[in-house]
Amino acid sequence: MSLEPGALATLISDSCGLPFDGRRIAGANTIQIVPSGLPVQNTFTIQTAVGWRNVEVTFVPGSFAGELVRHMGLADAGARGSCAAVLAKCLRDGATVNLRINNHPAKPDDPTGWGAQWARLELSVRRGQLDLGNGDQDNEKIFAWTQQVTAAIVTLLPLEQDDLPSENLQGGFSEGAQVQFEGNRYERDRRNRAAALAIHGYACLACSSELGDRYGSAAVGLIEIHHLTPVSKLGSDYCINPATDLAPLCPNCHRVAHRREPPFTIEELKSMLAAE
Ligand SMILES: [Zn+2]
Ligand SMILES: [Zn+2]
Repeated sequence: MSLEPGALATLISDSCGLPFDGRRIAGANTIQIVPSGLPVQNTFTIQTAVGWRNVEVTFVPGSFAGELVRHMGLADAGARGSCAAVLAKCLRDGATVNLRINNHPAKPDDPTGWGAQWARLELSVRRGQLDLGNGDQDNEKIFAWTQQVTAAIVTLLPLEQDDLPSENLQGGFSEGAQVQFEGNRYERDRRNRAAALAIHGYACLACSSELGDRYGSAAVGLIEIHHLTPVSKLGSDYCINPATDLAPLCPNCHRVAHRREPPFTIEELKSMLAAE
């Protein structure tokens, strides 16, 4: 495995809006990423093990993470829906998803049976029959699977307050909701971004370009998240579904989309590009 733990941690940090550090387990094809600057025993590790033709990503709670897991069980319906949407994407992509709550198997794509009083949480996602051994393409797969599992977990991290989201073109986006995750500020919009990228990937939904392919490593992961329904039209209790309400757009397409109010649709953007 050629992917450096630090490089993986940087990509995951960008996609999930939480800083992570990476390290390799000596003598094994396994990378661990942990939230930066926090006592790992109180938080969690995301462990990615690369085998012969398979990748397995496991959520490993710290030995004193009971309080965190309890809070994750109390995540609101929007967060649980986002988590389930990400895990449903993993299932669609051919992975085996093992989700256990309080030592009982739970359906990954249906949060209605998850209950709210969590004492124990186990999650691992394994994708076999992968064509590995191709350098950069391996790295993309390792990153994609690690990002999906990390996104599923961070969607459930505790939010302290929920404000109506807003979209800010300059910075891509920013929502009002901000939280304290064990000392790190964590915004609801970042949670939605993590889930949207896990589900849709990094290619622009309008022009299909991935900026990293065109500009190289400086642009890897550079993508903006567009709200298909303007946030001003959503009720304050509306739960954003990252699969259907959010779309990754490159900065160009995103700017064009907002040159009209209401914004141009993805289909309209596509037909502009086709007519050019
Ligand atoms: Zn585009
Ligand atoms: Zn937008």
